[in-house]
Amino acid sequence: MILYTLRCSHDHHFEQWFDNSADYDAKKDAGALVCPECGDTDVGKAIMAPNVKGSGQDKAPAPAPMPSCASGACGMCPMAGQHRGRPGRAQRGLGR
Ligand SMILES: [Zn+2]
Repeated sequence: MILYTLRCSHDHHFEQWFDNSADYDAKKDAGALVCPECGDTDVGKAIMAPNVKGSGQDKAPAPAPMPSCASGACGMCPMAGQHRGRPGRAQRGLGR
């Protein structure tokens, strides 16, 4: 079984299972491929790009890491106990 992503002429995308690529061709020739949204039979395989790298279209910018715990939830903080109330001291250096 093959799952194809199909696309109609109105740019609706939907998925459909086929036994194999010949089954897809047969159904397409028979006009059995119908868009579930608009009923269009002018349906073809959509170009799939499952893992496109570098397109940058739907990449959410990574949130800045928060090493400190401004809200006081120090139990989850990797610096727990090192910056309690005195952030300036930790920045100066851990030595003397
Ligand atoms: Zn459609």
